[in-house]
Amino acid sequence: MENEKRFYERLESKGVTRRDFMKYCTFVTATLGLSHSFVPKVAEVFAAPSTRPPVIWLNLGECTGCSESLLRTMYPYADELLLEILSVEYHETIMAAAGHQAEEQLEAAVKKHSGKFICVVEGSIATNYKGGYGKIGNRTFLEIAQKVCPQAAATICYGTCASFGGVPAAKPNPGGYKGVGQALNMKTLNIPGCPPNPVNLVGTIVNYLLLGKLPDLDNLGRPLFAYGKTIHDQCPRRSHFENDEFVEEFGSKEATMGYCLYKVGCRGPETYNNCPIAKFNDGTSWPVEAGHPCIGCSQPNFWDEMTPFYQEM
Ligand code: SF4
Ligand code: SF4
Repeated sequence: MENEKRFYERLESKGVTRRDFMKYCTFVTATLGLSHSFVPKVAEVFAAPSTRPPVIWLNLGECTGCSESLLRTMYPYADELLLEILSVEYHETIMAAAGHQAEEQLEAAVKKHSGKFICVVEGSIATNYKGGYGKIGNRTFLEIAQKVCPQAAATICYGTCASFGGVPAAKPNPGGYKGVGQALNMKTLNIPGCPPNPVNLVGTIVNYLLLGKLPDLDNLGRPLFAYGKTIHDQCPRRSHFENDEFVEEFGSKEATMGYCLYKVGCRGPETYNNCPIAKFNDGTSWPVEAGHPCIGCSQPNFWDEMTPFYQEM
């Protein structure tokens, strides 16, 4: 009760009302495909978490865009998510420690929480030349991941690089970059996207804390609640001539024709993600709504297989 009170006071001090917060909980509940009756339980996960799972966050071959996208999470604010709901034991980008001190912290956290921590990986892993194309503190990404990931209760790959190799794995790929599951030959939960949508990580964690298990996955290890449908299936431009709002905006059904971006290279029909529903920057917009074709960023090998962009498939 005291924790819950403090949580709401913290939100209020940041200008977030209870009403705003409940709206966000409704949104997360709907994203997870749960019934409305779960909204108070989802709110409880944020406001009064009964357990705080330890998290070790590895940054490997990446651009840190995934962490950046997470830091755009509004409710709960990133600090609430990282420090109150989870117990983040190691995250190079946001931790104060650096150099040897940081490396020692990683060793100590893995030892202390072995078998119990969630490992979130951002970035892919170089596998050629014994992993020599990517190192931290004189250890290759491959060595670090081989040591840390098998000791985790679950490994979550956040972003297309960690999930499937992403941009570092694009041709000619001299370093032999691969996604974590492929490089380590192990099962991972994948939240691809370049960048991924933070709500899909929040939803995965809420699912874990609320139902005590990770969400159901598709054959590429992606949570079905977020990657169960194609962009095209959910796109408002697809139903432009059936959508009353669009018809009203354009004046007639005929005037809405040609609104679809397929002819300028939209990969929405081949891409599985929930961008049209979840949107970015707290529901402000998403690429196709803003007039840019989907480039298929959450699919394996998108950089090689979806290019050249801006050309009809
Ligand atoms: S804009 Fe893209 S996702 Fe939307 S209807 Fe056209 S092809 Fe499908
Ligand atoms: S619209 Fe397509 S390219 Fe854009 S973020 Fe979503 S999946 Fe990626």
